[in-house]
Amino acid sequence: EQAIPLSQLIKNVHQCINAHAEEVAELDAAIGDGDHLNNLQRGLATLESMSAELDQMPLSDAFSKIGMSLMSTMGGASGSLFGSMFVTMGKTAKDQPLTLVGLSEVFSAGVESIKARGKADIGEKTMLDTLIPASQSLQQDAANGVPLETSLSHMQQSAITGMESTKDMLATKGRASFLGERARGHIDAGARTSQLMLCAIADEVIK
Ligand code: ADP
Ligand code: MG
Ligand code: MG
Repeated sequence: EQAIPLSQLIKNVHQCINAHAEEVAELDAAIGDGDHLNNLQRGLATLESMSAELDQMPLSDAFSKIGMSLMSTMGGASGSLFGSMFVTMGKTAKDQPLTLVGLSEVFSAGVESIKARGKADIGEKTMLDTLIPASQSLQQDAANGVPLETSLSHMQQSAITGMESTKDMLATKGRASFLGERARGHIDAGARTSQLMLCAIADEVIK
């Protein structure tokens, strides 16, 4: 039984992305090829169309199904990266209790799979600049027994700080890396959408 149905989280994430649609489209247009919003909305529409089914599945199976669906429908670098993240989270969730400690391990394994697939790390002006600090914050708080709501609000703050840190970076991965100095001064689109999605999920759990 899922504590908060995945359908609810998917709906909230989709609404949050739609509420920031113009901004997200502009970010990828400035230093990418302008399709990140569409890729993400396509992926989220796919997940919404199967969300009733996802609600009935064990979390590990649901994550695997989400991952495979994103890989086959979303498109873009972000589609294969988010896809691989969820496939890995599906595998990892099989061996973990669904406590804060367990879920933080699952999330961390997902982020590691993006690093491996994208051959990227923190400081390269990508979604990883949001995801790595968010995951580290959650793992640290979980290990220290920090209460759920506080952990999630720390995680949100880490995601925001990480997202903002991409603004002044040079890009060394992805399309923005072709721009050299011209990429400076712009926030990375995938860092922003990753932060928006994490914040939307945490808001729903905290509320
Ligand atoms: P595409 O770049 O193929 O058009 P999207 O626009 O959907 O795909 O996604 C672009 C985002 O993907 C970037 O803003 C960045 O956050 C992320 N990204 C691109 N390449 C990598 C990589 N090698 N590692 C991690 N993230 C990456
Ligand atoms: Mg793009
Ligand atoms: Mg593209």
